[in-house]
Amino acid sequence: MKIIDILNDHKMSLSFEVFPPKKETSFESVQAATLEIAGYKPSFMSVTYGAGGGTSKYTLEIAKSIMRSHGVPTLAHLTCVSSSRETVRHQIALMKEAGIKNVMALRGDLTPELEKTDRSGWDYQYAIQLIRELRETDNDFCIGAACYPEIHPESPDQKEDIRHLKEKTDAGADFLTTQMVFDNNLFFNFMYKLREAGVTVPVIPGIMPITNANQVERAIKLSGSFMPQRFKSIVDYFGHDPASMKQAGIAYATDQIIDLYANGITNVHVYSMNKPDVAKAIMDNLSDILGKDFDR
Ligand code: FAD
Repeated sequence: MKIIDILNDHKMSLSFEVFPPKKETSFESVQAATLEIAGYKPSFMSVTYGAGGGTSKYTLEIAKSIMRSHGVPTLAHLTCVSSSRETVRHQIALMKEAGIKNVMALRGDLTPELEKTDRSGWDYQYAIQLIRELRETDNDFCIGAACYPEIHPESPDQKEDIRHLKEKTDAGADFLTTQMVFDNNLFFNFMYKLREAGVTVPVIPGIMPITNANQVERAIKLSGSFMPQRFKSIVDYFGHDPASMKQAGIAYATDQIIDLYANGITNVHVYSMNKPDVAKAIMDNLSDILGKDFDR
């Protein structure tokens, strides 16, 4: 099933992001966790991809096993930074062979290690080139792209960031998923600016449940996202007690999701961090809401 059809269905839904193992030795445990999450029947699951192709094999393996075992639609991520055209075309061919219908087309991060390497074999500078490549290869792919309510760190300003985002949707991205947001107002303001700039595709907000205090610093470092004082107080007060912090983090994420639903967003993407217990707790909290269409 294509994700755009899920998004156009108007039923309240949740999707989860998982990441593949980095090493063969952790394949089985990661696969077990992702299949447990799939068993809760989210609307779809996305499987991330290591920039530079590090975990490329496992992205497809995990995506295939989710589709096969639980019939949950999957969104396979693909990055293009540091790749040659030949490598990207090979990956696209493998995706087609695996029956992947949904691809998240990303540039990937320019890590300090990558910055130091020789770029002569790099055929891609930006995600838009990958979107074009996917559209040319098979116009039937449903394509997602990334967006940043708090501006991509390399962008000089939001206007320019949104201009490049519009280029991605004009090139064929069917929907957008946001970087994690902890303050829904930032998402709603961003949506207003996107619509004003003529970006009309569905936008899925990304929510990261913070379930332990150590995650906070890493999440901010990775995403640059703003942490509202309300959330900081939760971490300050409950952070030293793991069980309380987990419960409070799940409650905070659930509260954000309910607010998004109540303001017209029908699918929310949860960065589940391969944690089935967290995914289940959020789904349980929303059990009387999920699957309903409040527009009818
Ligand atoms: P782009 O859209 O190419 O944008 C990158 C920067 O270049 C932006 O500042 C943009 O404004 C600018 N830009 C775009 N076009 C032009 C142009 N023509 N001229 C000048 N500037 C331009 N990383 C992974 O490695 N694996 C993953 O699986 C993964 N999944 C992600 C999922 C989501 C939902 C998000 C939000 C991010 C994900 N990332 C992942 C991280 C992502 O790869 C990085 O944020 C990366 O730095 C940018 O990727 P992009 O696709 O947004 O790039």
